[in-house]
Amino acid sequence: MALLREPLLLLSRSGMVKQLVSTMPVSAGIVKSYVPGESTADAVRATGGLVEAGLHATLDFLGEDTLDREQAELTVAAYLDVLRALSDEGLARHTEVSVKLSAIGQSLPGPGAKIALENGRTICHAARNAGTTVTLDMEDHTTTDATLATLRELRKDFPETGAVLQSYLRRTEADCRDLAYEGSRVRLCKGAYDEPESVAFTDRHEVDKAYVRCLKVLMAGEGYPMIATHDPRMVDIAGALATRNGRSQGTYEYQMLFGIRPDEQQRLSDAGEKVRVYVPYGSEWYGYLMRRLAERPSNLSFFLRSLVSKK
Ligand SMILES: Cc1cc2nc3c(=O)[nH]c(=O)nc-3n(C[C@H](O)[C@H](O)[C@H](O)COP(=O)(O)OP(=O)(O)OC[C@H]3O[C@@H](n4cnc5c(N)ncnc54)[C@H](O)[C@@H]3O)c2cc1C
Repeated sequence: MALLREPLLLLSRSGMVKQLVSTMPVSAGIVKSYVPGESTADAVRATGGLVEAGLHATLDFLGEDTLDREQAELTVAAYLDVLRALSDEGLARHTEVSVKLSAIGQSLPGPGAKIALENGRTICHAARNAGTTVTLDMEDHTTTDATLATLRELRKDFPETGAVLQSYLRRTEADCRDLAYEGSRVRLCKGAYDEPESVAFTDRHEVDKAYVRCLKVLMAGEGYPMIATHDPRMVDIAGALATRNGRSQGTYEYQMLFGIRPDEQQRLSDAGEKVRVYVPYGSEWYGYLMRRLAERPSNLSFFLRSLVSKK
């Protein structure tokens, strides 16, 4: 099954397959288990349920690699809309937003980075007005430097802006050291893209070992670690590192994806841990779904069956 990871990640970027799958409502079965819906109202409803259960959330309006300026503006508008709705519903204290810079202009030719920064500022401003924060998702390694540069710029005015680092990248331990300063919110994940050996560990075991090394740096540091993983071993190690570093609950948080290990999310929260659920929503769910299938190819047969049986 591990052999399927690469082709699935390739498919996640295939325009033709995307067209085919995205227009098939038949795929709704599996999509629904990872994405609560397409509209702001769907996202806010799902968030309300999580908050009621004592969890926190971060909302991601799905979309990436936008080569269309108008689409980037629509994405910004969607974030402003959801932030307003969260504030109106009294959910903003428990809910932030996650933003992919490539969805708000970073991949546009020419002044893409500048457009993404300006759009990022607009969203950060709206988040602050709503009483919450923004975290910049991390995408493939060709964007890491640009994303961290944008983060630095945004943090001048919005120091609460969160970063994401991926343990599979060889550079990340050093990036963790750079970002483990007071007030710095850093989400550590393993990484979801298909990266070459030259920049990334490709062996799962190596990625896990790197995750632990990075976690040690962040948990010993002055920042606010956000431990994004479903891996029971990583969750246990994070708990042990919190004890070793004298960190009390709430000086770090666990993060998991919507629909993945919900019992574990609840268990950690009931044990007093802060747990945030990443809630993706919107119609552009294709790339996100393919990355989730690549991580868990055992779901592939379920997905293919739902295509064939048109349920
Ligand atoms: C909140 C959050 C935000 C993220 N943001 C980003 C980002 O900005 N950029 C990026 O590249 N990636 C991001 N990711 C994805 C991340 O990089 C990984 O691809 C993804 O989380 C899978 O890695 P894992 O740590 O869960 O462990 P894996 O190595 O995939 O799995 C390890 C173990 O976890 C358990 N597990 C994993 N999945 C499941 C499942 N579906 N059901 C039951 N058990 C399971 C199993 O025991 C498994 O053996 C994010 C992940 C989370 C949780």
